[in-house]
Amino acid sequence: MGYRETYLRSIEDPEAFWAEQAEAIHWHKPPRQILDYSNPPFRKWFVGGETNLCYNAVDRHLEARGDQLALAAISSETGKADELTYRDLYREVNVFAAVLKSLGVGRGDRVVIYMPNMAEAVFAMLACARIGAVHSVVFGGFAAHNLALRIDDAEPKLLIAADAGMRGGKMIPYKPLIDAACMEARYAPPHVLMIGRGLDPGYEWVDGRDLDYAELRTAHAGAEVEVEWLESNEPSYLLYTSGTTGKPKGVQRDVGGYAVAMALSMWAIYDVRAGQVMFSTSDVGWAVGHSYNVYGPLIAGATSILYEGLPTRPDPGIWWKLCEKYGVRTMFSSPTAIRVLKQQDAAYLKRHDLSRLRYLFLAGEPLDESTAQWISDALGKTVIDNYWQTETGWPVLALMPGVEMKPVKFGSPGLPMPGYDLRVIEEATGEEAAPGRKGVLVIKPPLPPGCMSTVWRDDARFLESYFSHFSELLYSSLDWAIRDEDGYTFILGRTDDVINVAGHRLGTREIEESVSSCASVAEVAVIGVADEMKGQVPVVFATLRDPVAGQAARDAAAADMLRAVSGSLGAVARPARVYIVGALPKTRSGKLLRRSLQALAQGGDPGDLSTLDDPGALEEVRRALARGP
Ligand code: ATP
Ligand code: MG
Repeated sequence: MGYRETYLRSIEDPEAFWAEQAEAIHWHKPPRQILDYSNPPFRKWFVGGETNLCYNAVDRHLEARGDQLALAAISSETGKADELTYRDLYREVNVFAAVLKSLGVGRGDRVVIYMPNMAEAVFAMLACARIGAVHSVVFGGFAAHNLALRIDDAEPKLLIAADAGMRGGKMIPYKPLIDAACMEARYAPPHVLMIGRGLDPGYEWVDGRDLDYAELRTAHAGAEVEVEWLESNEPSYLLYTSGTTGKPKGVQRDVGGYAVAMALSMWAIYDVRAGQVMFSTSDVGWAVGHSYNVYGPLIAGATSILYEGLPTRPDPGIWWKLCEKYGVRTMFSSPTAIRVLKQQDAAYLKRHDLSRLRYLFLAGEPLDESTAQWISDALGKTVIDNYWQTETGWPVLALMPGVEMKPVKFGSPGLPMPGYDLRVIEEATGEEAAPGRKGVLVIKPPLPPGCMSTVWRDDARFLESYFSHFSELLYSSLDWAIRDEDGYTFILGRTDDVINVAGHRLGTREIEESVSSCASVAEVAVIGVADEMKGQVPVVFATLRDPVAGQAARDAAAADMLRAVSGSLGAVARPARVYIVGALPKTRSGKLLRRSLQALAQGGDPGDLSTLDDPGALEEVRRALARGP
């Protein structure tokens, strides 16, 4: 079956389609019913089925591939490389699970995990899954306030944390953040399980609350813990959205549907099967890290590479060196990371034997054509943009080389993935947009397996955030899109990012795309700013590939950008102002905070900054605005 038949079958006969896909995982008890959609838009997949994510990710592979590498956790920060076979992983996860049980953690209890990309983070997640505890991984290095919010939301029996993270050679002590978060939170976790990395020698210990994992690990050495079989729709984990548009939402994921979606996406989309190697550069704290550093590759019986460090240290060849060393077949990263590499010498990519690398998948932000073209030329590999959300847990739009390789069209993340009944809806009429017409991207429910069950403890927010935008019951996270005649979808930005210039509606993405076609530009964010005459005008914030460019070069670059936009989109889209800055404000997951840029440019308050990465970038924008373009 090719792409089209596979997709159509998933939409026309979803129960038959997903029943077949469900055979790829182990069920302790088979589902009684494939889909229960009696309470829309809530839906339950594989009702009555009993399974376990840890069993599928670890135990199931012991017999056939116990000695195969399951996980390689590489840190260019500490110089450590932990390599674990499936048997090693089984041992570590069981000991960890025994420690959790000894602390009274059990089925349905929440556990907050605050750790960088290290092997123990994976052990902790899988140990929770094994005993039916619900993990909530908080990106390591998030401020105390973020951690406090997530502690209050989850009310965990246990907080698991590392003593420190490292970034660019600088140690970031976590313990003071943890203590501050526990002070700020209304809810007090009874225990904090500390995983010492020996990075922060002098952290303070809270008697009675803080426990040392190394000691407990020794005490439980060799322990084996029985798998807790969960009903398919019980919660497996909580994970928060990036906070690009406002306060992050706590996504609740299930067990069975997620396992099935992981299994399908691994072979069909990422073209990775048992024994093959996947390297995702994400942090375990993001959706990509959960799905394609931990659960996806392990459920598939593949090898997962986990990386702690910058893409440019010790040199910009580090990722490709790892690809060579481990024989990576599929690599997964973000456009933001590639734009960082684009500022480096491409020769670094050529130094390594990448003969086993087949694909580079990129997700998380719009992938502009010039970046896609640059990396595709530099690598000589297939580059596939894929669009999804924390909410969906796996791609909504992509290509499926594991089924049938459809042509790549740069600028588009491709075609709808199985189970996603995607539509582009005209905002004004609620009607489906004709090919070539802009509209809001929606999914006709029921959402396929793998997607969120609800917002944690907040069904009302689930309905309000995703299902209340149209008179018809449709899911939308309010991205703006356009479809071409071949069914390829182009993402134009968020609906909030639409700029209305004298009645013409422009996506920020369209303007960004044309600005980034200028050779001198590294990164760009376009926003709409209120204007008395035109309603709104586009304003550009950009960084240059040459960070030390002088005034003349900056002026020339700005003139170039204006010309490029007028040339490709017409005078109506011509930016009113161009600000060249050293850095753009982003979330910790690498997304441009356009809403904050827009607020500042209009003299307002930048809003919720809990997920802001570099406060310096925002300061620079403030200064640039004060100085003028
Ligand atoms: P929040 O929902 O809290 O505002 P967020 O939407 O950035 O934050 P994520 O779930 O991390 O949280 O990101 C999903 C969003 O990222 C999508 O809705 C889309 O706007 C954007 N996105 C993801 N992948 C792509 C892609 N390949 N092309 C364009 N946009 C993408
Ligand atoms: Mg979102």
